[in-house]
Amino acid sequence: MISSTVAEQLRRIAGKENVFTEPEDLTCYSYDSTHLSALPDVVVAPLTTAEISEIVKLANAERIPVIPRGGGTCLSGGTIPTDGGIILALHRMNKILEIDQDNLTATVQPGVITATFHQAVEKEGLFYPPDPQSMLMSTIGGNVAENAGGPRGVKYGVTKDYVLGLEVVTPTGGILRVGGKTIKNVSGYDLMRLFAGSEGTLGIITEITVRLVPLPEAKRTLLAMFDTLDDAAAAVSSIIKHRIIPTTLELMDHKIMELIESFKPVGFPMDVEGAILIEVDGSEHDVNKQIDKVAEICAACRSREVKVAKDQAEAAQLWAGRRSAFGALCKSARTVFVEDATVPRSKVPDIVKRIQEIARKYDLVIPILGHTGDGNMHPNILTDERNAEEMKRVDAAIDEMFEAALALGGTLSGEHGIGLIKRKYMPWQFGEEGLDFMRSIKRSVDPNNILNPGKMFLMEKGE
Ligand SMILES: Cc1cc2nc3c(=O)[nH]c(=O)nc-3n(C[C@H](O)[C@H](O)[C@H](O)COP(=O)(O)OP(=O)(O)OC[C@H]3O[C@@H](n4cnc5c(N)ncnc54)[C@H](O)[C@@H]3O)c2cc1C
Repeated sequence: MISSTVAEQLRRIAGKENVFTEPEDLTCYSYDSTHLSALPDVVVAPLTTAEISEIVKLANAERIPVIPRGGGTCLSGGTIPTDGGIILALHRMNKILEIDQDNLTATVQPGVITATFHQAVEKEGLFYPPDPQSMLMSTIGGNVAENAGGPRGVKYGVTKDYVLGLEVVTPTGGILRVGGKTIKNVSGYDLMRLFAGSEGTLGIITEITVRLVPLPEAKRTLLAMFDTLDDAAAAVSSIIKHRIIPTTLELMDHKIMELIESFKPVGFPMDVEGAILIEVDGSEHDVNKQIDKVAEICAACRSREVKVAKDQAEAAQLWAGRRSAFGALCKSARTVFVEDATVPRSKVPDIVKRIQEIARKYDLVIPILGHTGDGNMHPNILTDERNAEEMKRVDAAIDEMFEAALALGGTLSGEHGIGLIKRKYMPWQFGEEGLDFMRSIKRSVDPNNILNPGKMFLMEKGE
């Protein structure tokens, strides 16, 4: 509970109309896109970096947790105020400050919605590739904090590959600027990479400069259908092995396509076990060459049919179907665990087999989809958290999935971050030595552990 004096000071800093303490308001900021929730003590929606700095100074002096929040689409529980405190809602900081045609960069405030940013730069013939499937709701600040990726990650990488400069409010209220508009910048420690993916634990990102690339001249989409999911997974690895890097390479199993078709029909086939949705981009000539080669590789991997979208409208329809997968999953079960294990690309067929085995072993429904071109699997467990017996099997299955991913040389997260959900697995990947190193960074910049405490790892050893 915060005192009335602190609430009064917050109103003075941000304006009383931007400070919320009513139960209805607190409830709206108590959850994200996971099944977790906890009530904050107060929600503050600042407009400027200076206001944020003042809020953080106050919180640090009073030892109050501060949890930055963008669009609230987090899939790892990163915005959940487990210890109460201040939710710092960044939606009012939503200006695109500059699109610099000469340097091919853009500078934005953190609350800019990702899709709005895409549209703005594409209008100028430029391209910002990171494309989380949540882009209609997620913010650029949240994307940097989570180091978000998306289907285009296979060719274009993730958010950190585009960040050139940041303004950050530190956990003690200082204002730090790192990087700028230069493409090359090797001065000192790479703080940009440290902040990208720091999940709101090391600083509040208040301004972002990103690198843009020219908008590709052409793009085409292809849907390849397979009698078995194993063949579809093998095709993913084979495409990469043949040194073709499509823009996107998404694997979907029968169950996920069935759910999408009953939610938002786009014409996914109902009589195959697996499919891959592929987009290639580049020059007109290159795109046609790549499409032919991909179709040839899929045929060699026993695809039953390869359908090339005849125009952009048809392609957009297929992608809208893929994007609606999360909605379709959520409609089909009370609780959905969207997992995010990632393996080296050559191991995609192995992890797909392991996930199928785990689903059978624990008698669970686990539709599989993922940005498999970059090894990023999204097995989704459909369950009901009220069923205690099933939840035990779910927990055991998730443990086994992450064990399998790590054993295959993979990682706990390709893009959704660690947050609360995967905190317990961190020692598996980093050991106590690695975690201690991270703890010492956190301790040195946030001595009172006020910034998004408890996310990624606990500060005490052995947890
Ligand atoms: C349907 C759906 C599809 C998704 N698809 C993808 C996908 O394809 N790829 C992908 O990577 N993710 C995906 N996600 C997850 C999520 O959209 C991303 O992690 C996204 O980057 C979160 O952005 P946000 O603005 O919603 O952040 P929030 O959920 O509000 O916050 C996420 C984390 O970032 C911190 N944070 C937010 N803003 C700031 C800031 N300005 N400074 C410091 N810390 C901050 C928060 O404290 C929290 O820890 C999906 C989610 C959903 C619901």
